[in-house]
Amino acid sequence: MADAYIFIGPPGAGKGTLGDIFCEKTGVIHVSTGQLLRDEMAAGSDLGKQVKDIIAAGKLVSDDIVAAMVKNRLAKADIKAHGCLLDGFPRTVPQAETLEKILADGGDRMAAVVLIEADRKMLMGRLTSRRMCSNKECGAIYNVISQPPKKEGVCDKCGAPLYQRSDDTEATAIDRLKVYEEQTAPLVDFYASRGQLVKITSEDAPAEENYKALAKVLGK
Ligand SMILES: [Zn+2]
Repeated sequence: MADAYIFIGPPGAGKGTLGDIFCEKTGVIHVSTGQLLRDEMAAGSDLGKQVKDIIAAGKLVSDDIVAAMVKNRLAKADIKAHGCLLDGFPRTVPQAETLEKILADGGDRMAAVVLIEADRKMLMGRLTSRRMCSNKECGAIYNVISQPPKKEGVCDKCGAPLYQRSDDTEATAIDRLKVYEEQTAPLVDFYASRGQLVKITSEDAPAEENYKALAKVLGK
């Protein structure tokens, strides 16, 4: 029987980093649907060929195909032995219901769904702190919180002015957080109603510190 885990968290909360540390320390295998799609295409499987055609046509890969890929992956021996951290699936309640069936059919179980909460001010700060050098040949990247330039707005390396990409503005950050909340609220309710949801708060601290809170709620 394999244990499956899911981490849910807003952009800027450090979900990816916490997932990497979790997998490294516990041996649980990171299963990303994006990677599964690329692997299927690279392997040239029937499923992979279908996916290639769908993507080439500019369409979205259906829930059925993603679910079939996840099911195949979860049936492999390494997952049975070590468990998995699912990334990119499920995103919706119907997908969560499908996953529940996949796990039950495989004799596996949802060990925990971790909701990573974080202070909104901290998230906004993180999502808007990146600055880029405007000199394309230099391309230096700064972070006004964690890695500021010596002189505000000026590149240390080449002296060119720094700028903020449109992806990193306050308006984009507000949008990203709103989309996250709208998309994940039903999933959070779904797992809470099944008693599978645990919560941690991501503090403005090194990832290793936040990992301690995560390990504690998971009993690792
Ligand atoms: Zn520069």
